[in-house]
Amino acid sequence: MKNFTFYSPTEIIFGKDSELQVADEIIKHGGTRVMVLYGGGSAVRSGLIAKVEQTLKKAGLPFLTVGGVQPNPRVSFARDAVAKAIAFGADFFLGVGGGSVIDTAKAVAHGVANPDTDLWLFWTREKELTKSMPVGAVLTISAAGSETSDSAVLTNMELGVKRGLNTPFNRPRFAIMNPELTYSLPPFQVSCGIVDIMMHTLDRYFTPTEGNEITDEIAESLLRVVIKNGRIAHENPHDYDAMSELMWCGSLSHNGLTGLGAVTDFAPHQLGHELSARFDVAHGASLSTVWGSWAAYCWRDKPERFVRFADKVWGIRKSGTEETVKAAIAQMVSYFASLQMPTCFTQLGIGAQSDDVLRQLADSCVFHGKRTIGGFKKLDGKDVYEIYKKANY
Ligand code: NAP
Ligand code: FE
Repeated sequence: MKNFTFYSPTEIIFGKDSELQVADEIIKHGGTRVMVLYGGGSAVRSGLIAKVEQTLKKAGLPFLTVGGVQPNPRVSFARDAVAKAIAFGADFFLGVGGGSVIDTAKAVAHGVANPDTDLWLFWTREKELTKSMPVGAVLTISAAGSETSDSAVLTNMELGVKRGLNTPFNRPRFAIMNPELTYSLPPFQVSCGIVDIMMHTLDRYFTPTEGNEITDEIAESLLRVVIKNGRIAHENPHDYDAMSELMWCGSLSHNGLTGLGAVTDFAPHQLGHELSARFDVAHGASLSTVWGSWAAYCWRDKPERFVRFADKVWGIRKSGTEETVKAAIAQMVSYFASLQMPTCFTQLGIGAQSDDVLRQLADSCVFHGKRTIGGFKKLDGKDVYEIYKKANY
């Protein structure tokens, strides 16, 4: 087993009616004036925001509610919210929603703690984040895992850049997780979430690191559980048990557990972020679009890893390595398709792109030659271009 540090301090409050504990949790974690953030309105329509506000009122906690976070959340929105939070004197930030809202809450917390620094500079690594404010989450979609992760992803529309920031300051103090709050999700978002949950583990599982037996076994069982319950949830998003499994898998998939001690990959995430930055497509859909092409391009670097994936996750055992690997990749892609998730550019709704655009996407993905992506196989701009080309139909 390799050396690792595991820090996953988020308190989980899981189950029916858990949102009623939100005020107690905020008080327990030191909040006295709360900024409540939500998205485009689903949490208002479901009555969740009213319920949260009522709970805060009852506990005597002053709050300011700010809605309007968009999917692929914008840095410009976060900057505006920082100004509002400072004027209000907020000392606790509650995200009520999915990854977009929770990531925005994290960004606002960083911005309020560092009022003299434009918060985008933390995302570009021009400034190092050394302090922040406490964040809590009431989760409404099983997907990003932001409710326990050390990550927050922002999009700068002016620059056409989507970028993640990993720091321990991104770990929420608590996450309230009631699977019933996900019942109102449209089927497309349920599927996007299933893809993202799987990808957070796949992007760790495909690694050059060997000898992490328990980590590998946890990853494989998580993938099997998501595959099984994803099918059930896709048919019936009101199945409490299936939605519960997905919700808990979403957190475990991205709190670091499924990749402990391993070099992680995350190339599919970087490939997907470029598509979201340029075409504003949903995160999960961007990942299912690129994964098959990434896998087809990269598997030869370590075929035995894909053979293990075939066996342990899909129960596929064929006589030849190539045959086995290709069957496993095809099985994964067809699972995405069974969830009505796109697996190529036209299905993603962006159409086949010109060669010029493919090159621009690739160039931007590798920061104009300043970085490679991927840990399983290191990919430069030429590799990234080839992968986009494979998905460009
Ligand atoms: P999301 O972008 O937060 O939400 C997607 C859509 O689902 C929104 O339109 C939202 O509508 C709707 N929605 C959410 N909950 C709902 C509910 N219960 N009922 C009905 N509609 C609901 O989705 P996400 O997949 O959780 O987050 C994606 C973002 O997180 C991307 O920017 C991605 O890059 C990022 N991400 C972050 C991490 C991390 O660790 N921080 C990891 C992976 C991805 P409303 O806006 O109306 O609520
Ligand atoms: Fe993700």
